[in-house]
Amino acid sequence: MTVFKNKYIVGLTGGIGSGKTTVANKLSQFGIDAFDVDHIAREVVASGTPCLEAIKSRYGNDILLTDGSLDRRQLRHIIFQNEQEKAWLESLTHPAIHSRLLEYIETSQSPYILLVHPLLFETEKNKICDYTITISIEKKRQLKRVCERDNIDESIANAIIASQLTDKQRRQRSDAIIDNNDNEAELDQKIFTLDQKLRALANDKKQQYN
Ligand code: ATP
Repeated sequence: MTVFKNKYIVGLTGGIGSGKTTVANKLSQFGIDAFDVDHIAREVVASGTPCLEAIKSRYGNDILLTDGSLDRRQLRHIIFQNEQEKAWLESLTHPAIHSRLLEYIETSQSPYILLVHPLLFETEKNKICDYTITISIEKKRQLKRVCERDNIDESIANAIIASQLTDKQRRQRSDAIIDNNDNEAELDQKIFTLDQKLRALANDKKQQYN
């Protein structure tokens, strides 16, 4: 189901550390707007937001760090294995993120818009996309890149990977796949070709509705 007749939405997904941010940043150099759900999820609970006020009312001031911002670690701890609290938090933040997304799509003048989402299929956000792309990476390389970037233990990275769809499941559901096992120069080439293709698809859609 495509909701936006005059916009072309490209869902970009992949497991942790697969390269979503890297790809979105490279495409932004070609003038492509990206709505990064992880990034916006942090913004909607920033200091002074209605979401943070609601969180404070529910859990008290102890949920804040000394500078008044959200103690995300503590919140994660609360919702971990507590389905009721997790559902409450999602019912608060998901509508806030969604309304930001709608506003972003409405105002963007980009040839196409990237929706960068680690859980694109799990949350069924693929339904608002015209096209979906999975960034694919071998598990061994994924573990190496994540552990190096986040300075975490392999067991933690493994647990996060296990909580997400597998690379194969994502690839099966996507319209296209970017293999990100090679170096960044190889990735640049793939992104250049991909951008040309997405611009053409977006143009085709525009013609259809003109
Ligand atoms: P997350 O799901 O945690 O948000 P992500 O999918 O956005 O991660 P990135 O942060 O873009 O992944 O990439 C993970 C790490 O791998 C980063 O340190 C990035 O610089 C590195 N990386 C991405 N692509 C390549 C590549 N082709 N060659 C070498 N390093 C890469």
